[in-house]
Amino acid sequence: MPRTAEIAGAGLSGLVLGSRLAQLGWDVRLHERNPELRMFGAGIWIWESGLRTLETLGAYDQATARARSIKEWRIADQNGRPLMSRFTTPSDRLLLPPRADLYEALIAQAQKLGVQIETSSLATGATADGTLQMEDGRELKADLVVAADGAYSRLRESISSTSWMDFGTEAGIRMMIDREPGDPDDTIIEYWHGPRRLLYNPCTEGQDYIFLSAPVSDERAAQVPVDRELWAEQFPRAAHLVERFAEASRWDRLVNVRCRHWSRGHVAVVGDAAHAMPPNLGQAANTAFINAMALAATLDQERDVPTALARWEKENRALTDHVQWWSYLYGFVVGKCPERMSGVRARVLKTVSGTKQFQTGLNKGARHVPAGARTTATIPT
Ligand SMILES: Cc1cc2nc3c(=O)[nH]c(=O)nc-3n(C[C@H](O)[C@H](O)[C@H](O)COP(=O)(O)OP(=O)(O)OC[C@H]3O[C@@H](n4cnc5c(N)ncnc54)[C@H](O)[C@@H]3O)c2cc1C
Repeated sequence: MPRTAEIAGAGLSGLVLGSRLAQLGWDVRLHERNPELRMFGAGIWIWESGLRTLETLGAYDQATARARSIKEWRIADQNGRPLMSRFTTPSDRLLLPPRADLYEALIAQAQKLGVQIETSSLATGATADGTLQMEDGRELKADLVVAADGAYSRLRESISSTSWMDFGTEAGIRMMIDREPGDPDDTIIEYWHGPRRLLYNPCTEGQDYIFLSAPVSDERAAQVPVDRELWAEQFPRAAHLVERFAEASRWDRLVNVRCRHWSRGHVAVVGDAAHAMPPNLGQAANTAFINAMALAATLDQERDVPTALARWEKENRALTDHVQWWSYLYGFVVGKCPERMSGVRARVLKTVSGTKQFQTGLNKGARHVPAGARTTATIPT
């Protein structure tokens, strides 16, 4: 008899975990509270760890068909003077697909692997014996119950797991803009000016992805539609991008979540529900993929689910804590810096970013090989 999993949340984490468990022989059902499976359409950074996950699941080709392959992630001051560069290599990749492409590829692959996806299916709680409680009154019993219901998870609370939630002092605005000749096609440029940031990302042949961030208290910067005059004045080197800023943009508060524990009995918490972090390193979803792969691998080796879940956390939490800490630190350096300190910040970053410790710390999660991952070359067709 195949083992069974009920997963609440058909976001990126729920889909990756569901597909991986199905590949390993599990009978999986995903519950999505929304009536449709839809993803907001900006871009997303997928590092080596995430790409290897997609390759293993068989979702790589579709997810990355339109994605730009990134050679350099550059941080610059508002006048374009470089402060840090992070280069990629063929074994340390960064691709930038539209989120919707990634999401659709994961849905298609999950369905191919036999994962059942129920929409308009709201989970309201979970109990340690492996029961998922649904709004319609159903009590679904499974070997494994998973809370993959995002940063504001309500399921996490049923196993009293939230240890710390910081609603963030920074907000981010995302949008897609039309590409124009001359826009870099393999370089991400992140401009810093005091606590404000403008991030240019080449995404597809026709569109670039823009991310803006500023302190939540910065009312002018948080305006949607975006105050073009402000951003052009703050970032003169990116004024040609600001002219193209779209009306359709989205504002999000950048939250941090830490859990006391990632599991209780037969219930596991994954993805943003377990470890949401601000998108400063572009590694939150990649970290969720690493943990989903590790969870499936541990369950494959260890039949007793509570024992497997405890081992999974023990073996994987340190890497997640590391990535989350770096993301938090990075956000602090970007978002808490008064304009008058920008020169000092620039000098410090230029000095430390060249050190081996900094490079290792920054990239540990991005370069991690997920448990059970195979590259395209080794996956049988
Ligand atoms: C501005 C921004 C930029 C980012 N950029 C990057 C990046 O470049 N690279 C990267 O790796 N990460 C990035 N991230 C982080 C990444 O988006 C998240 O880590 C990832 O989407 C989390 O996926 P998830 O499935 O855990 O949660 P979610 O995406 O929140 O999915 C949760 C799902 O569960 C559903 N749900 C919620 N409650 C219930 C319930 N009770 N019952 C049933 N269903 C429910 C929701 O409708 C949703 O579909 C970024 C985040 C932000 C805010």
